[in-house]
Amino acid sequence: MNIGVHMSIAGGIHLAVKRAASGGFNCLQIFTQSPRLWKLNQISKQEINLFIKERQNYKLKYVVVHAPYLPNLASPDKQILQKSFKTILHDLKIADAINADYYVLHPGSHKKTDIASGIDRLVNELSNVFHKYTPNLTFLLETMPGAGSIIGSNFYELALMINKTTEKVPNVKMGVCIDTAHIFAAGYDIRKKNEMKKLVDEIDNTVGRNTIKIIHSNDSHEPVGSKKDRHNHIGKGEIGIKGFENMMKVPSFRNLPWILETPKSEDDSDIKNRKKLEKIFEKIIGSS
Ligand SMILES: [Zn+2]
Ligand SMILES: [Zn+2]
Repeated sequence: MNIGVHMSIAGGIHLAVKRAASGGFNCLQIFTQSPRLWKLNQISKQEINLFIKERQNYKLKYVVVHAPYLPNLASPDKQILQKSFKTILHDLKIADAINADYYVLHPGSHKKTDIASGIDRLVNELSNVFHKYTPNLTFLLETMPGAGSIIGSNFYELALMINKTTEKVPNVKMGVCIDTAHIFAAGYDIRKKNEMKKLVDEIDNTVGRNTIKIIHSNDSHEPVGSKKDRHNHIGKGEIGIKGFENMMKVPSFRNLPWILETPKSEDDSDIKNRKKLEKIFEKIIGSS
């Protein structure tokens, strides 16, 4: 199973590799920037080389860089757009330098304008980034719970963003990161077989199943359709084991990197959550 975890880069990005590997993970997600600051964080050539070496040592299969939270490429505010553009461009170059496979961005907020113009601004700004620098990695947009003016809480919107951007920049690779807690909060009740089928049908009719590249594997502390974003341990939230089983029953999802962003409440929280996902994986493999 391709199973990963979000880890801190405290002390140097290369240290995150060992943190993930020692927990039994073969995939890793990191922030290279402070997620809640506008400050641009530089990473030295030496650190980058160390990271690449460590990744080889520990045989990590997939490395994912998650964009910081502040950039909003769908914002109607010109200044925010400009800062967001700079930050994503800067971070994207670092992600390529460390040979990351994927980059994950939250599509952003239209800030009480409207969804269509929010999507258009994201498409424009993102294609400006890609015209300036076309990454080697695959650029992913993440599914959102959809609170307030947040865009990207269904696959129709995500398909529009991807199709319009790749129309403008045909040589860029784009895809989708599904966050289980986010889709559940957005209203997709993955605990129910028929709702799960509806989700897969919607994916097939929009972005396409092969566009899904990562599963952020989080249980949800909040009920289905709540639009609230609070992650819980696997099996301990509203989604429960059944929901994860349903997700893993989709053959094209099964071998994707499943990346934990669950709370780190105890020292062994990540390991416990990894074991739960692995158990589900084995059960599904065994019965298929
Ligand atoms: Zn995210
Ligand atoms: Zn979340």
